[in-house]
Amino acid sequence: MSVIYKPCGMAREYSPYALNLYIGCSHRCRYCYAPHTLQRRGVDYFGKPEPRKDILKLLEKDLQKNVYKDQVLLSFVGDVYCDNADDSVTTREALKLLNLYKVPVAVLSKGGKKMLRDLDIFKEFGDRITVGTTLTFLDNKKSEVWEPFASLPEDRLYTLKTLHENGIKTFASFEPTIEPEESLKLIRRTLKDNSVDHYKIGKINNYKNEDKWQDWGKYLQDCVDFVSSNWKTSLLQILFKKTCSRY
Ligand code: SF4
Repeated sequence: MSVIYKPCGMAREYSPYALNLYIGCSHRCRYCYAPHTLQRRGVDYFGKPEPRKDILKLLEKDLQKNVYKDQVLLSFVGDVYCDNADDSVTTREALKLLNLYKVPVAVLSKGGKKMLRDLDIFKEFGDRITVGTTLTFLDNKKSEVWEPFASLPEDRLYTLKTLHENGIKTFASFEPTIEPEESLKLIRRTLKDNSVDHYKIGKINNYKNEDKWQDWGKYLQDCVDFVSSNWKTSLLQILFKKTCSRY
C-alpha cells in the first residue's frame, strides 16, 4: 500500500501528492473540516496526535517501490509540527527518507518556530523543498479565536523570514482567508519582509456562511495588484475551489 497518495478532486490543485504522518492535529482551528471524518470512527481528532502506525516503515517501502517526481505535501490533513506525541520526531525521520529518495517536498505548518528545528534537513533538500505556513490573521486575538493552539502571527512571520534568509524556498498559504483586510495586511507585511516566494490564496468555504459577507472579487484583485506590483515575488496561485482529503 502506498502511503503517499494523490489528493482527490480539486484538492489536487494544492499539491499533486500528499503524505499524512499523524492522526489528528492539536491546533483546533475552528474551520477545520477533518474531525468530521475521524469522529465517525471514534477518534478525538484534536487530542495529542500520535504518528500513524508503522508510518516510517510503510513510507520506506513506498519509496523503494515507487518513484515520485512531483511534489509531496506534508501534510494535507493535520500538521507535522503541531503539539504531537513524539515532538515531531516522525516528521524529521520522514523528511530524511524523502530526501534520501530525492522526492520534491512541500511542508505546510502553523507550528511557527518549531519548524526551524529541522532547518538543517530543509537545507539538505536544496531546491527540492518549499516550506510554508498558513497566514490568517495579523491580530493576535483573532488568531487565538480561530486557531487557538497554533503559533501566533508574529511567530509564523518570523519563521518564514528565517527560512527565507537561510536560502529555503518559502510559500504562504492564505487559505482560508476569513477577513480579507487581515490577509491583505499580512501580504503587505510579507512583501516588506521579502520572506515569501509563492503565495497561495483561497477563501473560507462551508463555515457558517462566513464567506457570504465578503467581496471576494475585490479581494482577489487587491491580492493580484499587491503581489504583481512587487518585483521580489515570483508566483501567485489562486485556490478558490473546494477541497477534499483522504487519510
Ligand atoms: S492546522 Fe489544519 S488540520 Fe490542524 S486543526 Fe487547523 S485546519 Fe485542522
